[in-house]
Amino acid sequence: MRIAVQIIAYLWASPYTITGIAIGLILNGRFQRVDGVIEIHGPRIAWLLRHMIVCAQALTLGHVVFGQNESALDFTRRHERVHVRQYERWGPMFVPLYLLFSAILFLRGRDGYRDNPFEIEAYEAEEAE
Ligand SMILES: [Zn+2]
Repeated sequence: MRIAVQIIAYLWASPYTITGIAIGLILNGRFQRVDGVIEIHGPRIAWLLRHMIVCAQALTLGHVVFGQNESALDFTRRHERVHVRQYERWGPMFVPLYLLFSAILFLRGRDGYRDNPFEIEAYEAEEAE
């Protein structure tokens, strides 16, 4: 039963995971597997993460986590694993929901990143360490 649920979770998040793997291959990233998650880092990945709207140490797409380098992946693992669980919960709806929350918060004069409930959950898990 547990394995069936895990398979469904991987399938549910797979559109993002496949996109993440494609980006990792295109950007010539180095792949590693940690606890059922694919972690990808490399110079081009680092450049991309530094040039996003919010400069990020790491970014999760389904069961893929991009990191600026190996130590960034180690440092952010607990936080990014919460995002992996969120992709498993929300599947294809995760990114639209995340962006919708950010937009609503921004329009209300709040921080679309730090006040986003998905980030609040991830930062709480990080602090519970
Ligand atoms: Zn986050």
